[in-house]
Order: sequence, then structure tokens, then C-alpha cells
Amino acid sequence: MTTPVRVRYAPSPTGDFHVGGARTALFNYLFARHHGGQFILRIEDTDQKRFNPDALKWLLNGLRYLGLNWDEGSEVGGDYGPYTQTERLDIYQKYCQQIIAAGQAYYCFCTSERLEAVHAEQVKKKLLPGYDRYCRDLAPSEAARRVAEGESYTVRAKLPIEGDITFKDMIRAEITIHYNMLQDAVLMKSDGIPTYHFANVIDDHLMEISHILRGDEWLNSVPLHLFLYQAFGWQPPIMAHLPLILNPTGKGKMSKREDRAPDGRVLPVFVRSFEELGYLREAMVNYLALLGWSYDDKTEMMTLAELIDRFSLERVKSSPAAWNYEKLDYFNGDYIRRLPAEELADKLLPFLAKAGIQADRAKMVQIAPLIRERLKTLNDAPPWVDFFFMEELPPYDGAQLIPKKTEPTVVLQVLTQARQILESVDFTHQALETALNAEATALGLKPNQMFQPIRVAVCGKMVAPPLFETLVILGREVSLKRIGQAIAKLT
Ligand code: GLU
Repeated sequence: MTTPVRVRYAPSPTGDFHVGGARTALFNYLFARHHGGQFILRIEDTDQKRFNPDALKWLLNGLRYLGLNWDEGSEVGGDYGPYTQTERLDIYQKYCQQIIAAGQAYYCFCTSERLEAVHAEQVKKKLLPGYDRYCRDLAPSEAARRVAEGESYTVRAKLPIEGDITFKDMIRAEITIHYNMLQDAVLMKSDGIPTYHFANVIDDHLMEISHILRGDEWLNSVPLHLFLYQAFGWQPPIMAHLPLILNPTGKGKMSKREDRAPDGRVLPVFVRSFEELGYLREAMVNYLALLGWSYDDKTEMMTLAELIDRFSLERVKSSPAAWNYEKLDYFNGDYIRRLPAEELADKLLPFLAKAGIQADRAKMVQIAPLIRERLKTLNDAPPWVDFFFMEELPPYDGAQLIPKKTEPTVVLQVLTQARQILESVDFTHQALETALNAEATALGLKPNQMFQPIRVAVCGKMVAPPLFETLVILGREVSLKRIGQAIAKLT
């Protein structure tokens, strides 16, 4: 590539940071890193009515959680700032004057009442709705006089009426649009704030953006944007519109809200929800990268370094990609299993604390390998480990101590024998396993008849990490105490 690669993620801070936006940010990031270019974060906050003060915080936190560090933009600065559009209003004013003077845009004095009446009439006559270009041919001197008199106005693009425009996107076939399908769109609103289209084009030019990678809901805006580039005599960036993300059924767009699954689980769609649920950055990034892009149709698990190395726009599909929670869980489980015990323990501690478990780090480092296989998310951990950190087990149903097809008297015998063994045996995995297995054989019991009572006695639940390791970590004293309590419960 000859011109330096400069790409931007340009969110509007109107709501929560959605995975769709995260996918767009990631593709920009990967493209920039692959080409050794710059990744820019620009805040498009010109829609002040929909501005949400929390949105920026969610966005910046979300990008950091995903590890998508930007080279220029909010909080980091850069040579092309400011990077927040409401801090660039004077720039847009200047270009607005320029495009009016060039005869490619015009003042429009139509009131909202008039526009509504026009719209109602069009609906009634079953005409295509849109601005009827009432002010398009006002004499410039008259327009100037009305502006000087303080009349309220917007500025509209003076699009061609005849002919058509053809453009090429990197991801799809050539597209041709007839100008008669387009509107004389508003560029500058009556409060002096530009619309998205106007600010976006000016900023992409001034920030020397080389490629635009964004969601394909913006494809329809391209003809207007190309008109603006042409009106200013600027070279437009190369464009690539990323395929839609569908919801898990494959029918319809991925939801903008967090719905609930039939079983009551929240189906996350916001980046901070995935973080709160304990999805690892590595899994999120890997999963998101495959939403509309693939390396070779078979390689799925890829590190960030591999994604950067392999990413190309040529392999971005034009067909939509459906979200798949099971696949993400599978990825997350896989990345969790790859973590060394210390690292996994450190990542789990905040999730345990959130669940009210004051876990000891050294002990968690021992426990982490025992539960690693069982976690889809970090938030799955608390019920697997809570009993390690409790002085007293919470009350549990004594019936759980009794395996199927086993008499309570046999269970009593198991626990009494186990207590005796645990009093004297070497408290190691190997010694415990040998001694308790030998006892099961001596009593003529199946493994589960022997081990379920012990497991429930020391963990207070049927589903728990592997027993011998668990006993070792709990230690002789706690194990004996809990077995004693289970015997008391049974008698
Ligand atoms: N501000 C637009 C958005 O919120 C950016 C679209 C674009 O990348 O041009 O999606």
C-alpha cells in the first residue's frame, strides 16, 4: 500500500457499547496493525439529543477491556485533533461556508411545520417522501439577506437531480444509485451543529483517513458522502462495509437490547456485560474476528498476534454472520484452560469477591487447576469453590449424602470408616486415594457409593471438584469436622 494506512473507529456516544461496534473497532484495529498504520478513535457526538453521558465511559472501558488500544483520539491526543466532533464546530462552519459559496449546498428556511405538511401530502398521494427542494433555487442574495435578518435556517446538499452514481466497495460488487433516489440532505442543522454526514466526511478528509471500515448500515450514505468529497475536490478514502451481524436464530439483526433466554438467562449484547460475566479478552477478540472474516475456513483459534498477521479485507465476507453464544462459550472455556494456575486465580479473585467469597490467593492457585475444565466463564467459578472458604458449610439437604440404591446405614458406615482413615492417613492425594479405594473394596461398594457421601459431607453439594485434591486443600482438620457433622446429620 502506498499511502500510509490510517483508519478510524467513529462511534456516536448515544448508548451502550454493543458487540456490533466492537466488531467494527476490532476490524479497524487489526487492519491498522497488519499494515503498520494508525488506529484512530473519533467521537461523533453531533447528535446532542441522543447523547448519553455514560456512553463514552462504556466505550473507552470496553475498548480497553478488549485491548484495542488506539494511537490517536480521545484521551491519547494526536496531531489531527480535536477528536471529538463537538470540539470541531468552527471547522465545520468554515467548510459549510465554502460549499455554499461553491453552489453545492444551499440555505433552507423551511419550518418544521412546513416540512411536516409536505410529508403528510406525500404520504396521502403515495409519493416517495422527502424534501421537495423548496429553497433550492432561492437567489443567493435573498438567502443571504434572510440569514442576515436572523431567520432560522439549515444548510442542505445540492445533489444532482439527473443521472446516477456508481461506486465500488472493497467487500461487495459495484453499486449504482440513481440521483433521483437521493435527498437534498441536511448538512448543517439550525443550531449550527453539523449532521453526521457532513462532519464525518470533513473529519475523514482532515484526519487523512485512508480506509473506512464500518457497518453496512452506512452503505446507503455513501452516495451523499461521495458527493461531498467531489464538491470539496477531495479524494475519498477506500471503503469497506462490514456484513451485518444477525441474532442467533439467523433471522433478523442482532438485538440492540439484552433479552432473556427461555431459561431466564440474560443474553448479553453489550461489551461491558461480557466483561462482567467473565469472558476473557482473548476469547472475545478471537470470536469477534470470525464474525464476517475467516482465515482459511478451518482455523478458528487464533491469538491476537496471529489475527493481526492474517487479517485481510479480501477475506471479509459480504454475507451476514449470525451470533452464536455456544461458540463463544466454547472459545472462552478453551482460553480459560490455557491460563496458568496463577493467572487464572488472579482473574477469578474479583469474581469470587463479587459473589461474597473472601478467597485466599495461595489457596486459589491450588484450586484453579481443579476447576479449569469446568468453567465456561469466570463467573461460573463461585459455586465450584465457595465451600473452600467457609468456616461452616451452609445447611444442605442430608438426602444428598445417600447415593442411589444405598441404605442410610451403609452411608453411616462409609462416613465412620472414612473418618477413621482420614485421622491417620498421610494427607496426600495418592495416600487418600489408595486408602479410600481399598476401603470401598473392603465394604463391597461401588466408587460412587463410597465417594458421594464423603463429597457431600465436605463440600455440602453433589457437584464439586475432584475429591482427593479437594480433601488435600481443605486439610485434615476441616475435612474431619465436616464428616463428623454429616454423621450427626444422619443419626
Ligand atoms: N458515528 C457513526 C456510528 O455511530 C460512524 C459511522 C462511520 O463509521 O462512518 O456508527
